[in-house]
Amino acid sequence: MTAVLETPVCTDDALAAALAVTPLAEVVGAEETVPTVSGAQVRYANFDYAASAPALAFVAAAVTKALGQYASVHRGAGHLSQVTTARYERARETVRRFVGGRADDTVVFTRNTTDAINLAAHALPADGEVVVLDIEHHANLLPWQRTGRARTVVARPTLDATLDALEAELASAPAALLAVTAASNVTGEVLPIRRLTALAHRHGARILIDGAQLVAHRPVSLASSGVDYLVFSGHKVYAPFGAGVLIGRPDWLDAAEPYLAGGGATAHVELTETTWHTGAARHEAGSPNVLGAVAIAAAAEAITGLGFELIGYHEHDLLSRLDAGLAALPGITPLRIFEAPDDVPNGAVADRVGIAGFAVAGRAAREVAEYLSDHHGIGVRDGKFCAHPLLSRLGHGDGAVRVSFGLGTGSDDVDRLLAALAQLTGA
Ligand code: PLP
Repeated sequence: MTAVLETPVCTDDALAAALAVTPLAEVVGAEETVPTVSGAQVRYANFDYAASAPALAFVAAAVTKALGQYASVHRGAGHLSQVTTARYERARETVRRFVGGRADDTVVFTRNTTDAINLAAHALPADGEVVVLDIEHHANLLPWQRTGRARTVVARPTLDATLDALEAELASAPAALLAVTAASNVTGEVLPIRRLTALAHRHGARILIDGAQLVAHRPVSLASSGVDYLVFSGHKVYAPFGAGVLIGRPDWLDAAEPYLAGGGATAHVELTETTWHTGAARHEAGSPNVLGAVAIAAAAEAITGLGFELIGYHEHDLLSRLDAGLAALPGITPLRIFEAPDDVPNGAVADRVGIAGFAVAGRAAREVAEYLSDHHGIGVRDGKFCAHPLLSRLGHGDGAVRVSFGLGTGSDDVDRLLAALAQLTGA
């Protein structure tokens, strides 16, 4: 789905009602109120989904159920231990289905995306080099930087030119891996996974997709796209903090030293020697975060149940409304990595998930975020979004504002945000 800036902000009440978008799913805490400087309590408007999305009510129910039948995982013979173990292993299969994993892909539960990419970097074959873009979240830069084998390509003003630059880099010297985000956490712009995968494979490299900002918003299929590794975090897919996923080809993972040394990863232990498991267990030493895995699986089921078509429409409608509203305000500069393609008329922009990064003329990003929170009970993100190289290159090294939303957001929230920004900017 392509986000096109063609829906005007509605000033006619009847038309506004007709175009209203209600939240697509129930999220926990949707009715939470917060204090404002005027002394009022107002419903919290959460525009920080890209950092951490609220948990779905469906997810909370699944976690509550699992908690009620909670016992040790993996080694207990008791009935509830078996129930808990089965639940944990089922979660792995649910995740595999959710992202179209191949039957032999390893599904490792990690702490989050950062942890998953660190594990991937740990499993990178010795001497294998990695190509990354400069637009990445630090989670997809620093683990590679630390290997000393990362080659960075500066993204070009258009997507096509960026792909050409990546192609040239991969052609210039062999690389083991291309590690790239599927959607920018700064601008929401979506990168073409299939084209990137074909490009990497053409040059004998594998591809790791940072799906942290994508998997809750767009369908992904490892099997049909050929993506080798995918990582994401539970707390960005409507599950609570604490668990993430690395899914992908088993060989590098099985050849790597266990990520953590400890119980659960071992097949046989003597005082001086240990034989390690292969598969997910090899990299999941210690008691796993069963509830985190259950939560991710429940979120995957809920998202699948809603369907990406509906989710796409919902987010597209809200993004159109938001973009048009922001464009109508004075002094707001949107952040974009890529220019609008020449062949799409009327200022259409690249496909985006529900993220808008922008700067407000004459205002520090922190001032804007504090104003929205203190005066209007609206939560947005400000700063450099753990993407310092990108923010600097885009000329916003002092930071910017980021608004992001999802299933629990309605058009009244967007209108509230726009009205608050209008007050701030004197529109
Ligand atoms: N990658 C992207 C694109 C992100 O947006 C984020 C978090 O914002 C991360 C990685 C890191 O996720 P986590 O903090 O859950 O490890």
